Amino acid sequence: MEMLLKSIKRQADEESLHKALQAKDGEEVCVTFPAEKKQNTMMSGSPEKPDHISGAELRNGRTYIVRVKKWMTEDKMDFNRSWNNGKGMPFRVMYGRVLKETRGMVYMDLRVRRLRTDYCMKCGRLLTHPVSRLYGLGPECGGHYHINPFETKEQLEEAIERIDETLGAIRWSGWIAKSGIEYASEVK
Ligand SMILES: [Zn+2]
Repeated sequence: MEMLLKSIKRQADEESLHKALQAKDGEEVCVTFPAEKKQNTMMSGSPEKPDHISGAELRNGRTYIVRVKKWMTEDKMDFNRSWNNGKGMPFRVMYGRVLKETRGMVYMDLRVRRLRTDYCMKCGRLLTHPVSRLYGLGPECGGHYHINPFETKEQLEEAIERIDETLGAIRWSGWIAKSGIEYASEVK
């Protein structure tokens, strides 16, 4: 028992753990675990914003940036097969307007916009390289493979322009399960 409690010491609330360690055998104990601090997953790279809302809060006619769960991007996923002709979302972070709404789903017309992010907008992976963070895309998804080819500011701006052009051409319209949305923020 003590071993077990000690092994979970790291995550547990100290005070409740201390009490539990003093309990007699057979006595009921209660160990509380403080809520884990969630790592920041916001698109802007800033700490989690208070204007984050859940999928259930999306409303018809409004425009949002949405971050979806990975399965919303998978063509073979049952949901996409049933509702989107087997075409999943091309990016995990997209923005656009809600055109229709049902109890459990929203129909959205979506585009991609380059955002400074900590996470790849396409696959959701954590970004570490400054160039990747500037693009909001990982080395594979952005096709830059961690090479910084820029010697001048002009070259960098040119590269960003190209990225924006590529991203600007990407569109996706379809049904998104409200439960498939990790979070959204309204664009006003
Ligand atoms: Zn990626």
